[in-house]
Amino acid sequence: MPAPLAIGILEGDDIGLEVVPQCVKAMRAAAARTGLAIEWHPVPIGKKALDDLGHTLPPGTLEKLDTLDGWVLGPIGHQAYPKGNPAAINPHPVLRKHFDLFANIRPAKSYPGLPAVYKDVDLVIVRENNEGFPPDRNTYMGNGEFRPTPDMTISIRLVTREGSRKVARAAFDLARTRRRRKLTAVHKDTVFKLGCGMFAEECRALAREYPDIAYGEVLVDTFAMKLVMKPQQFDVIVTTNTFGDILSDAAAGLVGGLGLAPALSAGPQRAMAQATHGSAPDIAGRNIANPYAMIMSGQMLLAWLGHKRSEPRAVRASELMEAAADRVIREARALTADLGGKATTVEMGEAIAAAIAHAPL
Ligand code: ATP
Repeated sequence: MPAPLAIGILEGDDIGLEVVPQCVKAMRAAAARTGLAIEWHPVPIGKKALDDLGHTLPPGTLEKLDTLDGWVLGPIGHQAYPKGNPAAINPHPVLRKHFDLFANIRPAKSYPGLPAVYKDVDLVIVRENNEGFPPDRNTYMGNGEFRPTPDMTISIRLVTREGSRKVARAAFDLARTRRRRKLTAVHKDTVFKLGCGMFAEECRALAREYPDIAYGEVLVDTFAMKLVMKPQQFDVIVTTNTFGDILSDAAAGLVGGLGLAPALSAGPQRAMAQATHGSAPDIAGRNIANPYAMIMSGQMLLAWLGHKRSEPRAVRASELMEAAADRVIREARALTADLGGKATTVEMGEAIAAAIAHAPL
């Protein structure tokens, strides 16, 4: 018997308190159906942890997460944390850096029954997650954006060979194991000759190691046009941080919006399921948030762990979750308001868990 998977539950803020329990419910149903053993570990984080324990990332949290295989993290509403309180930090960058969660994997998949720009999109954007333009990610100390004079701002971008190679390898592995064996690297090496040039060199070098993957490159501006005109031509896309951030939201928009946009941040040893959407304070506490993105982020975590740990039951559990969510949406069994239905968060979560429980093995 393989050891049980140890998975953390970090609810986060606002609608995180509503959608994370639905995600865990679906993961539990899939584990029960496949005989996959999971040990669950609730870990306090965010505003509730600040109120109860005095810190949004209480002491001991990183050490606790170090003992786990992965975790589910709800959205963090740090914009509403009390200003000037050193204990009210945004925990997300700390987690991302500490666990070197270098690949942010963001699928976009359309459902024919739902209102969307396209009905037949199925692509995944793999975004470098620890470098690039965001000022909190590109310096050892200080901040990668500064203002030498009152009327001038300089923003710097970090690209390393190692970071580029790591994210490219994650994308090639994904293209090979769980996708249609096609990979597109997106950059702008004609202008950012050094930064994008280095990223592209590392992608090209790896392409030689993966001769079974159809590899191509597209400049980011051309890619933006191709994405909106014919997204069906893409399978796995790998790109640098900010390009990936923007393009993945555009891809989510093509298939129906943020409620349908799951994501996984993966590192060398561990992964973190975290939907693309924020904590949506405007709808929090009303039981109307769409739990799909969070549930499918949990599904991605099980798929990733299943392949990483060679645990076929985790892979099977993830397949059951995906098929069940597909069925609930295609048959409009329980759709939340953002998808044109009347179901509550709990009703949609329960419909997906029930579809998992009754799925053929
Ligand atoms: P952040 O900066 O934390 O990413 P944001 O302010 O950009 O957050 P969200 O919190 O994601 O954005 O909310 C954007 C809009 O999408 C809001 O109107 C919100 O209600 C809606 N929204 C986000 N997630 C969901 C969801 N799961 N179900 C339904 N609506 C959602």
